[in-house]
Amino acid sequence: MDQIQRDFVDRLADLGIVLSEPAQQLEQFEAYYRLLVEWNEKMNLTGITERSAVYEKHFYDSLTLASVTDLRDTASMADIGSGAGFPSLPVKIAFPHLKITIVDALAKRIRFLEEVVSSVGLANVVCLHGRAEEVSRKSEHRDRYDLVTARAVARLAALNELCLPFVRTGGTFVAMKGSDITEELEESLYSVKQLNGTIRDTVQLQLPEEGSARHLIVIAKTGSTPKAYPRKPGLPLKQPLVIGSGKTGSS
Ligand code: SAH
Repeated sequence: MDQIQRDFVDRLADLGIVLSEPAQQLEQFEAYYRLLVEWNEKMNLTGITERSAVYEKHFYDSLTLASVTDLRDTASMADIGSGAGFPSLPVKIAFPHLKITIVDALAKRIRFLEEVVSSVGLANVVCLHGRAEEVSRKSEHRDRYDLVTARAVARLAALNELCLPFVRTGGTFVAMKGSDITEELEESLYSVKQLNGTIRDTVQLQLPEEGSARHLIVIAKTGSTPKAYPRKPGLPLKQPLVIGSGKTGSS
């Protein structure tokens, strides 16, 4: 174990995470790091490639999820707009019992994720190429998941419509956000209500080394998704559900 890995393990302990098979799991994080950097030369996956920065801003940041939800008590998780695998793949490596479904609209990112899943040796991870608006219309994904996550995908008013349809009644959606969320949170209240959610908690965190602020917004699903949602692909982002947006499609 080198210094970067020791620091990483210490920080995970601060989040209450203790790796069950540390040697194996640290090797999985390292293999994931190597693939990320290698594939990033051929396609745009991340602007962060320095090793300690990847451990902090991608791996640790993804695992802050553990500070708002009990992952040991979670069986299924869907990660919407996962990109290069965040937050779901670090979460899967640290909590191998999870059944993970990843949805991303970009085929080449899905190819990368499939490569990571097979060469790192992760079981029970399904990578789906598709738009969240279409995937959540299928009964096997609609109102199904214990936990749904999204990091750096869209503003919360739009994100709610992409993510909440996947959450089972009684389950949780966690939006992983940056430093400034006051306005975005206010703007999202209408969509939370329309999609049968309720905001449970908003937690502020700080990256341990780099110091920048993060927010985790925790939304509980209180009932199944109304038939009208999600609207047609593209609409959630183009015309987010905010007060006065109506549902007629006129802008
Ligand atoms: N969650 C990652 C990636 C963020 S980039 C991270 O934190 O690093 C946003 C990703 O969302 C992109 O990969 C994009 O393809 C995907 N995305 C955007 N809109 C989407 C939609 N409607 N359905 C599925 N994926 C979408």
